[in-house]
Amino acid sequence: MSPMNGPFAQRLQRVNPSMILGLVQKARQLAAAGQPVIDLGIGEPDFKTPDHVKAAGIDAIHNDVTRYTIVPGTNELREAIAEKFATENSLDYSVSEISVSGGAKQAIFNAMLATLSPGDEVIIPAPYWSSYPDIVTLCDGVPTVVECSQEQHFLIDPGQLERAIGPKTKWLIINSPSNPTGGVYQAEHLRRLAAVLDRYPDIYVLSDDIYEHLMFDGNLFTSILNVAPQLSERTLLVNGVSKVFAMTGWRIGYTAGPKKLIEKINTVQGQSTTHACSISQAASIAALKGPKEFIAERADTFQSRRDLVVSRLSDAEGISTIPPDGAFYVYPNCDGVVGKKTPEGQLISSDMDFCAWLLEHHYVSTVPGAAFGLSPHFRISTAASESDLVTACERIVQACAMLRD
Ligand code: PLP
Repeated sequence: MSPMNGPFAQRLQRVNPSMILGLVQKARQLAAAGQPVIDLGIGEPDFKTPDHVKAAGIDAIHNDVTRYTIVPGTNELREAIAEKFATENSLDYSVSEISVSGGAKQAIFNAMLATLSPGDEVIIPAPYWSSYPDIVTLCDGVPTVVECSQEQHFLIDPGQLERAIGPKTKWLIINSPSNPTGGVYQAEHLRRLAAVLDRYPDIYVLSDDIYEHLMFDGNLFTSILNVAPQLSERTLLVNGVSKVFAMTGWRIGYTAGPKKLIEKINTVQGQSTTHACSISQAASIAALKGPKEFIAERADTFQSRRDLVVSRLSDAEGISTIPPDGAFYVYPNCDGVVGKKTPEGQLISSDMDFCAWLLEHHYVSTVPGAAFGLSPHFRISTAASESDLVTACERIVQACAMLRD
């Protein structure tokens, strides 16, 4: 066999080939063929990077900020991040307790590679951001997936957490507000989870707070460390500028946690990307230190889009939706369409079938719940214009009305 055809590393065989790739390709083909596809599958804000942040990036290039930085990120950026934690989250971190990476995804990858030995387990509440289980498996760990239903607002409850814990459990991952559900852990819920964790002192907590600013209905984001500071010696906060500042392409994420863990994360990063892009680091300082008023405006925009989608979808037969409390996703249940037949004679036997049919015949691109570990659901991203959302919802309502028992 040619070496280019494998065999490849065994760990790659454990990674799920992207379930949604086929749908993404199909959406592109249809759009290229001139069909009016509305893409609600995307996971990035439909806003632009703020002008002052772009200008800081351009200045960085002109000022030759184009050389290696130190592995954990420049002191200035880590100081800005420490300042963000102090003012926005009432949490104290020194620069040595912060590491900057090429996006929040790399931050999570670094943390898992730095801590997981073969067979170590990571508790991942489902629905989850699809990358968590794949990152865990790539790092030789084992995801312990805990299904959290719509009735429980897709949040893991303390009993489920305790039942999932075993002798090999290394991490619990929580993500609030959540991708894909927009679910939010409120203070009391976090306190009850922390009470379980208090009984298991060897378990680390990874809190992915990347959507923290996108909170609805006047609620404020609460970090698990605000209600359970005793967990700070084993909690890693993951965050970044991608979503809040519409900087997905700049690739800057960061972690804050105990110094020893951060040192190990830096060791991993030092042998992969070395550090995050120097220009993006400079631009992120401007983002973190600059004006923030627009953030609340964006959260309001996403809240009205949520209201629009939830209310329009209430007319869709077989679909039930709970209003998310944050982020820019809606995660309707489509149990009521499973088992039905399309006018073309096709049986809808899963959320995957439903999303494929919606795309092919009604030109609305969404992501099936199977990609996030909880079916039958589908994820709608509200990172789209109001008029596109209205049209997409009308198409979904009409499509559902065509289905027969
Ligand atoms: N965490 C969650 C929950 C996400 O939804 C995403 C992106 O979709 C990330 C992390 C990754 O962020 P970044 O683009 O900074 O790597």
